[in-house]
Amino acid sequence: MTDHLMATFYDTHAHLDYPDYAGDLPDVIARAQAAGIAKIISIGTSLSSSERAVRLAEKYPPIYAAVGWHPSEAMKAPADLRPALREFAKHPKVVAIGEIGLDYHRLPGSQGGSTEDDAHYKRRQAEIFQQQMEVAIEAGLNCIIHQRDAFEDTLAQLKPFAGKIRGVFHCFGENAERMKQVLDAGSLVSFTGIVTFKNGQNVRDTVAATPLDRFMLETDCPYLAPVPYRGKRCEPAYVKEISETVARVKNCSLEELSAATCKTAKEFFHKL
Ligand SMILES: [Zn+2]
Repeated sequence: MTDHLMATFYDTHAHLDYPDYAGDLPDVIARAQAAGIAKIISIGTSLSSSERAVRLAEKYPPIYAAVGWHPSEAMKAPADLRPALREFAKHPKVVAIGEIGLDYHRLPGSQGGSTEDDAHYKRRQAEIFQQQMEVAIEAGLNCIIHQRDAFEDTLAQLKPFAGKIRGVFHCFGENAERMKQVLDAGSLVSFTGIVTFKNGQNVRDTVAATPLDRFMLETDCPYLAPVPYRGKRCEPAYVKEISETVARVKNCSLEELSAATCKTAKEFFHKL
């Protein structure tokens, strides 16, 4: 009876193609819809993962797809990712290129490799990041950016493309100063369930400093389930818990947060 009053949100970053959901995806989607999570973007991390995301988007009306190759998997990438991604990008439900970027969290050097191994790995990540931004420009799509321990290099590599494409720095956990650098480059940020964590005050401080019209919400499921589900499998329905915390931090109503974040997402992902 009060359904029409429920604030709706989007999960702009989910990994619904992962085996975690193989057993109950229709239920996961139904719970998301019941919680007011109207649209979900399933994110590719390789060509096969991107292909699965596209198939899910074809099968389930609330699902959309992003296609891309994750930097952590850079050494497994084909020499040229562009031809396959160009084809995917034509699909009416492919709304972005991603997730792409740079990840220096587990360099080969930290696992017995040499400094040359580190340099080679970083160079390969930069190459596929570059290729994928080129496809994004050609296709007129924006990018979902993954970076870990590589903020400066990621922003530096994105900046020459500013004005042609925008990025959303997903799962944003950096401080307000870095958030401003992202916004100054014409890009956006998005926040996960980390905002609900007891030790997430730094992220809540960044949320508080981010203008209401420059961020989106996401789960990054199956990871990062918000409180009170922390440690369990995450799913898109939990954007509800994330939105409640973010609304409190922003000192705005759920309706205002819904209107702002959905408008931002529709402008950024123009096929959504
Ligand atoms: Zn992700």
